[in-house]
Amino acid sequence: MNIALASPDIGEEEIDLVTKVLRSGMLIQGKYVAALEEKIATFVGVKHAIAVSNGTATLHLILMAMGIGPGDEVIVPAFSYVASANAVELVGARPIFVDIEHGYYNVNPHLIEERLTERTKAIMVVHEFGLAANMNPILEISQRRNIPIIEDAACALGAAVHGRKTGSMGLAGSFSFHPRKAITCGEGGVVTTNDDELAESIRVLRNHGISYINGKMDFIAAGLNYRMTDFQAAMILPQLERLPIIIEKRSVLADQYSSLLSRTNFLLPINPDGYIHSWQTFHILLKKDLNRDKLIEKLVKCGIGTNYGAQCIPATTYYQSKYRIDLGLFPCAMSAYENGLAIPLYEKLNLGHIKYISEQLIHHTHVA
Ligand SMILES: *Cc1c(COP(=O)(O)O)cnc(C)c1O
Repeated sequence: MNIALASPDIGEEEIDLVTKVLRSGMLIQGKYVAALEEKIATFVGVKHAIAVSNGTATLHLILMAMGIGPGDEVIVPAFSYVASANAVELVGARPIFVDIEHGYYNVNPHLIEERLTERTKAIMVVHEFGLAANMNPILEISQRRNIPIIEDAACALGAAVHGRKTGSMGLAGSFSFHPRKAITCGEGGVVTTNDDELAESIRVLRNHGISYINGKMDFIAAGLNYRMTDFQAAMILPQLERLPIIIEKRSVLADQYSSLLSRTNFLLPINPDGYIHSWQTFHILLKKDLNRDKLIEKLVKCGIGTNYGAQCIPATTYYQSKYRIDLGLFPCAMSAYENGLAIPLYEKLNLGHIKYISEQLIHHTHVA
């Protein structure tokens, strides 16, 4: 067997639509981008969706449009993909890291308030691995302290908590269409928001700061070029139609893993009541005495691709050398960083694959 960690499911419909765009000669930000923006806004349940070149660009644009910059602080979960914190660095602000909850991989809401200062301009939550963060207490803090929430929902399109979709609960939401996510166009991302002014500002910043004043083109900001191409948008549209089926298939596979891997050396991911998990990643935690890197090597030899799930961001070289943050503040993020393992989960897999992967995992972690 040869089972990659992730493998995009690109159908004939996507290939036909991309070909159509290529033949049309209209390559950038045309009618397919407009159609994608409309569909995403409806799907997430917000007024505005703005398609951009990747997930990191969405976070950068949101922070820029909010006017966050030098001297400002943004709360960021200690355990996430580094892009969450890098976007804060890119605008010259400082990420203030908060630990996650053990086995849940999302920010611990009870640790947020003690890290707020008069410089805190936003609370970034990450819906890690496709499971929504524990939003009610975070929304309460946000309202009481008047600090907006940014949702990094890169992994969580289609996920929900208490009937509310990810990307619809904060001031702005951010999604990615990287091949590791449930639907993909290679590189791509989308911002969601109900705020008219923020949406307009992001549209301007995405396109060189261009604005039309009395029908005349002008440049009103030092903008970027973070546009999405039309063939990328064309690729996403059919996948977006399939997304509910994709999530359903993934959750069936996740249930199979959960039963096959119960009572083993792993802490399995949770799916609490009231949540819709989009299962972007099946992330398990190994017992401390197991050597993860050796296990990854052994699994490669059996044709199984696995990898670390995410980083304890303050422990990475850049953040350590810049801020020298005491890693003792992040015991749960450190344990997830050191002992976490993402294993294959996508629609093309079947029960046979899940059984094989589970058997190999159990076999190679059996302590004789
Ligand atoms: C994938 C991911 C990103 C970055 O998205 P790109 O499209 O790769 O730039 C940001 N945050 C999280 C949590 C992610 O998983």
